Amino acid sequence: DQSLCAPLPVLGEDVLVPLVTGGEVGYAALDYAASAPALKRVWDDVAAYAPYYGSVHRGAGYLSQLSTDLFEGSRATVAEFLGCRPGDQVVFTRSTTDSLNLLAAALPADCQVFVFETEHHASLLPWRDARVTYLNAPRTPAQAVATLERALADREPSPSSQLRSSRGGPIGPALVCVTGASNVTGELWPVRELAAAAHAHGARIVLDAAQLAPHHPLDIAELDVDWVAFSGHKLYAPFGSGVLAGRSDWLCGAEPYLAGGGASRKVARRADGGVDVEWHTTAARHEAGSPNVIGVYSIASACKALTEAGFDRLVAREQHLVGEVLAGLAEVPEVKVLSLFGDDAPRVGVISFVVEGWNSSHFAAALSAEYGIGVRDGLFCAHPLVRTLLGSDPGEAGECGAPEAEPGERSLNAIRVSFGAGTPDEHIERFLRAVR
Ligand code: PMP
Repeated sequence: DQSLCAPLPVLGEDVLVPLVTGGEVGYAALDYAASAPALKRVWDDVAAYAPYYGSVHRGAGYLSQLSTDLFEGSRATVAEFLGCRPGDQVVFTRSTTDSLNLLAAALPADCQVFVFETEHHASLLPWRDARVTYLNAPRTPAQAVATLERALADREPSPSSQLRSSRGGPIGPALVCVTGASNVTGELWPVRELAAAAHAHGARIVLDAAQLAPHHPLDIAELDVDWVAFSGHKLYAPFGSGVLAGRSDWLCGAEPYLAGGGASRKVARRADGGVDVEWHTTAARHEAGSPNVIGVYSIASACKALTEAGFDRLVAREQHLVGEVLAGLAEVPEVKVLSLFGDDAPRVGVISFVVEGWNSSHFAAALSAEYGIGVRDGLFCAHPLVRTLLGSDPGEAGECGAPEAEPGERSLNAIRVSFGAGTPDEHIERFLRAVR
């Protein structure tokens, strides 16, 4: 059938049109940091592919071949989007959380992990089987680099290691995990400098790019980070997929994240009755089971859409909106915008604030009920950071939820407004009007 062989159509006049925030819908989705709306282009690409859906790496038929090509083609698209180096692997996962847990499961023996207390729980918590050093919240980017350098220089000696510290002592492997842009303040972290510090001390570094990738061009080689993790649903591709990309040695040296079909190259019974397994040494090693081909294809579609649109255009538009929001909030004396690095620190379209005299949860509920605006309230899965920013103890908060507080009490949590590709001026104007 010739129609099956036709190239998938390229849809959408403007690749940055979001699917659900069109003017006629009226709902102002200003919670991109939690999950961004699908770009219409991504939705259209997925819809165009859906009739051709088939198994990946598991069939001889046309649909299976097409799906396998799209799946592996998506891997190449993501590698290009991230500026991967030769030999880097792109592993498809469920999310950033999944990606970082995968890396945590692949740490070499005796690995020490360094992580700032300000991280999202997805970056803070997966390292529980390793020796973890939690670094105090820095108040400037330079302080972040200095804090990391000091901690790495002081790392514990590892008698069994071949690696030597700059002071000559034996040191074991180490990993630094850091966010590129905070999911609470939107502030950009000095990733290049932190990577240089890590490498100068014989450590590796993984970048949590969940909030950076949708808002900023990313280049693994140029940033000189060892791995990058991000989620599709924050990158306008809402189909339950994520990425861990970077160095292959630790990934290939580790046991498969999931054991099963697809990860194994050869399985045979042994004479003693057991089973011998030869695992793949490619990304497939950590992708056992039938993969989420729709999710993976949607990530690739989003990468292409963002690249085609041009990050210059995206960043310029978003920075204009960041300026509008900060200026508008500054006009309301009761509003306090949260920041770790100071009010002038560069940030993506993610801004958290508290309003004097208001319970943040009630404030966010009012934005929704009275103005049709969707924001987020709470602690944003970053309890230690929010505690530092508010100077308060959120107490027994739910994992990501908001602690209860009576109206008029001091804020124990915050309100977050976040936006990006396709956010119309009207949504920002409505938000500022509502806050005023
Ligand atoms: N890191 C950061 C900085 C995030 O903002 C988030 C999501 N809020 C995550 C990690 C986790 O992403 P996911 O829930 O998609 O695994």
